[in-house]
Amino acid sequence: MIAKIEQLLKEVESLKASTTEEIEALRIKYLSKKGEVSQLMKELRDVPNELKKEVGMKLNELKDMAQEKIAILKAQNETSDSSADGLDLTRTSYPIALGTRHPITLVKNEIIEIFSNLGFSIAEGPEIEDDWHVFSALNFAADHPARDMQDTFFIESKPDIVLRTHTSSVQTRVMDNSKPPIRIICPGRVYRNEAISYRAHCFFHQLEALYIDKDVSFADLKQVLLHFAQQMFGEDTKIRLRPSYFPFTEPSAEMDISCNICGGKGCPFCKNTGWVEILGCGMVDPNVLESNGIDSNVYSGYALGMGIERITNLKYQVSDLRLFSENDTRFLKEFESAH
Ligand SMILES: [Zn+2]
Repeated sequence: MIAKIEQLLKEVESLKASTTEEIEALRIKYLSKKGEVSQLMKELRDVPNELKKEVGMKLNELKDMAQEKIAILKAQNETSDSSADGLDLTRTSYPIALGTRHPITLVKNEIIEIFSNLGFSIAEGPEIEDDWHVFSALNFAADHPARDMQDTFFIESKPDIVLRTHTSSVQTRVMDNSKPPIRIICPGRVYRNEAISYRAHCFFHQLEALYIDKDVSFADLKQVLLHFAQQMFGEDTKIRLRPSYFPFTEPSAEMDISCNICGGKGCPFCKNTGWVEILGCGMVDPNVLESNGIDSNVYSGYALGMGIERITNLKYQVSDLRLFSENDTRFLKEFESAH
């Protein structure tokens, strides 16, 4: 019996286990009611009296060692970070913080919905573009200031490749690849080489709409603009169009809406004019249609484009553009109820 205890002592000393289950199996094997130690305790009754003391002491040694060894294995297992079994599954969980949609996404989705209901479909294109799709195909003269280093990010080793300065490049791609009727909206991120301040950023978001078909007139454009303004800013919203200039539209206009804060009475937000500017638009210049393989004698169209940040500012009075890209959760949380 002494020999058997000696053998178990050696066995226990070299025990190894890396998971909670393995340790538990060892505890059952050695220390449970039917385990090795209990069995030997029972057998101790049959040991002759003169040997009982010696065997008893040896057996206690085995019991102590087994308990100690298993305690050590448990401690090692709990502190081991790499083991998933080291997780304390009884611990109360942290409340899971739910994120919110970014205000730019919320407003973008709202604009998309208004135009989708009018039959426009979404078109997307690359943010890194060639000169043709961003400028040339859109009637930008070779010396147009928008091509200047001041405004455009060029890819250094490839002067023909730029970060798109507007989503109109997507319109060019669609005109290139499809035939009228074309009725699309192009939401996306654009880049301008501008110093970052509260009212300018080197990247922002645009959404443009393009409709090309037979007999599209300025009256169609005006009706869509009014519908959009009233859906976005309320039924009572009025619009006004001012003549403007863009290389890709002729005639061109900028659209103001009656100030949605003071209702047109005049306030600091609208600089007491009662009007705020929200987008640019116009009839697609025949040169642009021809550049993109569309017969301008048969087809006409309108285009309009807006900055999503601008619309978001008007809806939520965000005064500093930089807030949109700082990822401050306190700012983002404010839009929780807008979902
Ligand atoms: Zn106002």
